[in-house]
Amino acid sequence: MWRQLSGVARTGSSLSLCRMRGFSALVQDKALVDGAWVDSSNAKATFEVRNPANGAVIGKVPNMTVADAQKAIDAAKQAYESKEWRSLTAKDRSNLLKKWHKLIEQHSQEIAEIMTAESGKPINESKGEVAYGNAFVEWFAEEARRIYGEIVPSASPNREIIVMKQPIGVAALITPWNFPMAMITRKAGAALAAGCTVVVKPSEDTPLTALAVAKLAVDAGIPKGVINVVTTNKAAPIGDLFCKSPDVRGISFTGSTEVGKLLFRNSADGIKRICLELGGNAPFIVFDSADIEKAVDGAMASKFRNCGQTCVSANRFFVQDSVYDKFVGQLKKRVEALKIGDGQGCDVQIGPLINEMQFNKVSGFVEDARSKKANIILGGQPLPDKGSLFYAPTIVTDVPPSAQLYSEEVFGPVVSIIRFRDEEEAVKKANDTRRGLAGYFYSENLQQVFRVAKRLEVGMVGVNEGIISAAEAPFGGVKESGVGREGSKHGIDDYVDIKYICMGNLKYD
Ligand code: ADP
Repeated sequence: MWRQLSGVARTGSSLSLCRMRGFSALVQDKALVDGAWVDSSNAKATFEVRNPANGAVIGKVPNMTVADAQKAIDAAKQAYESKEWRSLTAKDRSNLLKKWHKLIEQHSQEIAEIMTAESGKPINESKGEVAYGNAFVEWFAEEARRIYGEIVPSASPNREIIVMKQPIGVAALITPWNFPMAMITRKAGAALAAGCTVVVKPSEDTPLTALAVAKLAVDAGIPKGVINVVTTNKAAPIGDLFCKSPDVRGISFTGSTEVGKLLFRNSADGIKRICLELGGNAPFIVFDSADIEKAVDGAMASKFRNCGQTCVSANRFFVQDSVYDKFVGQLKKRVEALKIGDGQGCDVQIGPLINEMQFNKVSGFVEDARSKKANIILGGQPLPDKGSLFYAPTIVTDVPPSAQLYSEEVFGPVVSIIRFRDEEEAVKKANDTRRGLAGYFYSENLQQVFRVAKRLEVGMVGVNEGIISAAEAPFGGVKESGVGREGSKHGIDDYVDIKYICMGNLKYD
């Protein structure tokens, strides 16, 4: 792969990347099936991975077929049943995860560089994601040893009721591009801790980070077939295979609501365990009792992380009348000061959008709001001088309910602001959506804090806080934002079955 990258560099398309420290060492150009680095069975077909900041080709990975994915499922099944995995104790699995964690830590700079190169994420954020993603490996290494069962007092004198948790078997993990590493470790860490084996299907936009992290799992001594990575730019038929295969016992998906619904529907026949982390439409409410400086800090962190491309990003800002001008004025100054550019720049805060589809969506939403008489007080246009996928950080006020910005997730650097009069109106508007992932509000009024935290129809609430994700906390949504929880002690639940064993005819006298 290094040779291939150098070749690309000689053509001049990725010079800056090759100057980055250690970039080549972990980059793979093969998929991982049954412990072997393999090509596509379709005439070694590949697809290109591009840097969204400049369009440069930074790698090629196998375009795996349905037959290849089937081989990965077979390998995962065989590994699940093999002594090398099944006979391991919880402590053994924990130790393997700890080794993986250590290697990721040692290679954090390289992984971050790969991540920035393929996702456009500013390098400081990529480093943050590597630490965050690795926290899941560490957390689940610890949780592996605490998958406790129960002994329940029986109503019969000659019986004992024993409850144990057992791994479900093979799990298919489908992950997005916005957190190319953390969405894999959050799922795979839990699955492996539970004793499952996995087939990972990373996003076609960010397969290199996935393969790099998988390589470290192999180096850590995780047995062959336990983690398989299938790269493809034709996700649908492989997703369909995961849903239909009787050997895949669970699917964990993070991505769009549309694809999540499809997977939910298609896995009904096989009664699969399914964990879905789908899109949000997060409200961010600023009450008149808020500390406005804190609220502006939280708004910047929540909205502009990864160029607004996170499912927990604030999507609709509701600001109370009496603090409206102050909040909007301060926010505007901060947004104007954002440093935009190629994520490899050390001080860059806003990189490009991931791809053309995403770019068109963001600019389309802003144009839709403009046509519906919303006020664009900052930005509102592409930045072609920076690159074809850059969009100006934008603030839109007086967004009408008919605008797409109001009802749909923009997934871009666009702040939509809506004015409100009182708490009742704010909560009602915040809940007026079929999504329910995260919600944020700023208030220094204790009574209001508890009232509103309880009433928001979301899975996660940030109170006076704009960044809430943590390995220790349960991540997930309500309504159409998903089912299941990831991270925390609950993150294991999707990968275990509860088995009740009735011990009968016992004689105690
Ligand atoms: P986004 O809009 O964030 O790209 P997607 O839901 O399209 O979200 O993609 C998230 C993940 O789901 C990616 O790995 C993508 O390849 C995969 N994916 C897309 N379509 C399907 C599908 N029909 N079946 C299974 N996976 C899919």
